[in-house]
Amino acid sequence: MANGQCEYHSPVDYDIVLAGNFGEPRPCHFHGGIDVKTDNQEGKKIYSIADGYVSRITVNKYGFGNAIYVSHPDGNTSVYCHLKRFADDYEAQFERTGWRDTLDFRFPPGKLPVKGGDLIAISGNTGHSTGPHLHLELHDTETWVMRDPMEKLGSFIADTVAPQAHSFMAIPQKGQGLFNGGFSKQTFGFGQPDTKKRSTTWTLSRQFTAWGRVGFALWADDYCEATYNHYGIRHTRLLVDGREVFRSDVDSIPVSCQPEVNQWGDYDHWRRTHIWYMKSYREPGLRLPILHTDLNRGIVNFTEERDYHLTYILRDYRGNESRYHFTVRGLPDSRVAATPRRSLLDDYRLWRQCLWPLHSFKNVSAASAAVPMVM
Ligand SMILES: [Zn+2]
Repeated sequence: MANGQCEYHSPVDYDIVLAGNFGEPRPCHFHGGIDVKTDNQEGKKIYSIADGYVSRITVNKYGFGNAIYVSHPDGNTSVYCHLKRFADDYEAQFERTGWRDTLDFRFPPGKLPVKGGDLIAISGNTGHSTGPHLHLELHDTETWVMRDPMEKLGSFIADTVAPQAHSFMAIPQKGQGLFNGGFSKQTFGFGQPDTKKRSTTWTLSRQFTAWGRVGFALWADDYCEATYNHYGIRHTRLLVDGREVFRSDVDSIPVSCQPEVNQWGDYDHWRRTHIWYMKSYREPGLRLPILHTDLNRGIVNFTEERDYHLTYILRDYRGNESRYHFTVRGLPDSRVAATPRRSLLDDYRLWRQCLWPLHSFKNVSAASAAVPMVM
């Protein structure tokens, strides 16, 4: 079943403009799909993005509101949410009794086949929605891992604007590092003008100092030309002297990792400012498979009296790219004993972090058995 090929179509019959993208950090979860604008109104025709069959229909006052699930032969399921109503064929499958309805129907393959481009629903503003739009998710049908719908729909969306970084945060590790002579975390703006270009390179002239182990975090947004909206960053790399110490590629997220956004991001800072700084290192215990680091978990160890050249490289799904350079001078300080640190225990922890995800992402919230099957 999961070996089939799929040709993908747009879910709407006009140019797609996004109000939100996949994986945007939000408190306690990542945004699980893309938000397709519907001209601030209900009533747009929504089409299946590929061949398959309607596998589930849910009606709820909360959450996704009216939602329809289409399972595709390539092993993905697309989910269309906050709908006003479903196409007539699907409305005929069940009876509504009132606005408080909480309904959940599963359909077997063969019952409600769909072709890519078939009308399946009318857009709306039902469930937990702050305005009319289409929230569209793409999941691995078997594991229910959330995938970036841009992988399939990217070619329908115009984007020639690179992501932009606003500022970085230096996070000296407790008792092990100093930044600009201080033990506490500090933020520094890049001061880049609002350029909205396809690619950009920016160098901070200010000099910083550090000693010992310091982590970094970044506040950045992605943009496109069609709207004032901003989006999460698909791809982030941190290089130190040209060597990659951290990389994140927000292409798929296991549902079980949703709460980990609060550890990858600086949740305390978000609570105070509603700004997300995403760390460029891995906190111990984080399983998020989209984070990749060197042996030091991405934490930079300043142990030599010299200049360290740091570069952030941000890229969106379409390959628009921006680079931010800044220099940090290693400055010895007797308050911190800065020595290269490697131990067997570190190696074991790293090995465990690398393997753990393989065993824990199956099963998550895919299918629960206690749902009525409509035959
Ligand atoms: Zn959404």
